[in-house]
Amino acid sequence: MVQKIYVTYNDVHKLCQQTAERILDDFTPNLMIAIGGGGYVPARILRSFLKKPGNPNIPIQAIGLSLYESLGTETPEEIPGTKVTRTQWLDLSSLEMANLIGKNVLIVDEVDDTRTTLEYAVRELEKDVQQATEALGRTAEKTNFSIFVVHNKDKQKKGKLPEDLVKERYYAAVTCGDEWICYPWEAQDIDEHDRLAEEAKKQ
Ligand code: 5GP
Repeated sequence: MVQKIYVTYNDVHKLCQQTAERILDDFTPNLMIAIGGGGYVPARILRSFLKKPGNPNIPIQAIGLSLYESLGTETPEEIPGTKVTRTQWLDLSSLEMANLIGKNVLIVDEVDDTRTTLEYAVRELEKDVQQATEALGRTAEKTNFSIFVVHNKDKQKKGKLPEDLVKERYYAAVTCGDEWICYPWEAQDIDEHDRLAEEAKKQ
């Protein structure tokens, strides 16, 4: 039985706040790409803490990725998916892609488990931006991708990310074990969820 960790909205808020400070010590993101659905709430919270006074809000774009799961009776915590499918992607018109070129782009998701999703997101986004950069003749401008996750599970990863990204531009608010994290936005009963989180904190 996989151990469950209950995380509250308050926890997520504070974790985003703390990590935003670390990010701003290194660079200022110009744009966020939230991987749906788990990346949406963290991205919105992060934006409040990444915004500098006098500057406009950092735009958030959304992509939808889901791991294909084999049909069966297993619950998601027991059978991680293996194949990524796109349910939503960026508008690839040159006008939209031009917005990304030469920018610091922060990719946001809630959890890095096997890393399959993040590998896919980074690889495909880099490919699309590269194509647009060449098509628009803006090869002098470098686009920097970085990653924020609320939780990174410290385990053998199936997916690979560029080495420099992992070393220099990868931010995990929490590094945890191979547990199943229950996020508040998935809860059917938020009061019960918060109660379980509170109980675990007392132990
Ligand atoms: P990956 O294995 O590609 O790193 O993670 C893919 C997706 O699986 C995550 O974006 C998330 O939706 C789901 N996932 C993996 N581990 C957990 C977990 O501990 N809790 C929850 N709620 N979702 C998870």
